[in-house]
Amino acid sequence: METVNPYYPIPTKIKKIIPETPTITTYILEGMPITFDAGQFAELTVPGIGEAPFTPSSSPYAKDLEFTVMKVGRVTQGLSKLNEGDVVGVRGPFGKPYPLNKFKDREIYIVGGGVGFAPLRSLFLALVHNIKDYKKIFIRYGARTPKDVVYSRLIPEWQKIENVDILLVVERSDESWKGKLGVVTVILDEIPVDLKVSPTIVCGPPLMLKFVTQRLVEAGFKHENIYLSMEQNMSCGIGKCNHCRLGKFYECKDGPVLTWADIKDIEEPFV
Ligand SMILES: Cc1cc2nc3c(=O)[nH]c(=O)nc-3n(C[C@H](O)[C@H](O)[C@H](O)COP(=O)(O)OP(=O)(O)OC[C@H]3O[C@@H](n4cnc5c(N)ncnc54)[C@H](O)[C@@H]3O)c2cc1C
Repeated sequence: METVNPYYPIPTKIKKIIPETPTITTYILEGMPITFDAGQFAELTVPGIGEAPFTPSSSPYAKDLEFTVMKVGRVTQGLSKLNEGDVVGVRGPFGKPYPLNKFKDREIYIVGGGVGFAPLRSLFLALVHNIKDYKKIFIRYGARTPKDVVYSRLIPEWQKIENVDILLVVERSDESWKGKLGVVTVILDEIPVDLKVSPTIVCGPPLMLKFVTQRLVEAGFKHENIYLSMEQNMSCGIGKCNHCRLGKFYECKDGPVLTWADIKDIEEPFV
């Protein structure tokens, strides 16, 4: 049987570039060079610069693959200089998907911060694709300012979907902002789900993961129902290089989504 080389990126054209915030951009690629399930990630290559891991932000059921990327360093700055029609490389999928079968008939409580909305969008769209399978989907999302809210162009439409409840918070704003102010935990005071069985899924920067996890544990979610995107230090994507080792887990192979039950005994899991 022919073996597909896991290190070989598939050249794929950038079809459309959509600025989401001053630092975050969505890249819509032409077609689906890889198939994936929500929660899995891919390595994106910027020719001549290098590659980095990103979770698709599009639905696994869409016809084009999308990534929503924050500009932080070498690869992401290189990506930001590309234009529609330019070619990037994609390899994957890697990691384990969300166990959507365990989410059936449940209320699903999604919490995101900053660019962490990107992987959560893919999950959200996968859930919405089979919305009747789930009781209700809650999204709680925090950004620095209203300008930093990713997908503000799409959220009004999502809010119209039956059994979808979205609440946003920003840290700083002027009077034009009608919602709450503060960090994301400010909107986690009341959690209107059945805490004994509901899954909660969190993605965001490490400090946010830490404080949100504390809040969700305190609220009463079962540790095995708290799903966290662990994305630090990843390199090869296939469990070979050892960079993303977390206790007995490789974030790339066993994650990137791990439960609080998996990692709670590890010293400082969020650094
Ligand atoms: C499984 C997985 C999925 C991911 N999905 C996404 C995604 O959907 N969208 C996305 O934008 N990113 C995502 N990331 C993060 C992304 O991989 C990094 O932002 C990227 O590797 C940075 O590469 P770079 O070469 O541009 O920066 P580097 O040159 O490697 O880093 C430059 C500097 O930026 C800092 N830095 C790196 N990442 C971040 C960050 N996320 N926030 C703040 N500072 C940072 C580094 O500590 C370093 O100081 C994901 C990471 C993993 C492991």
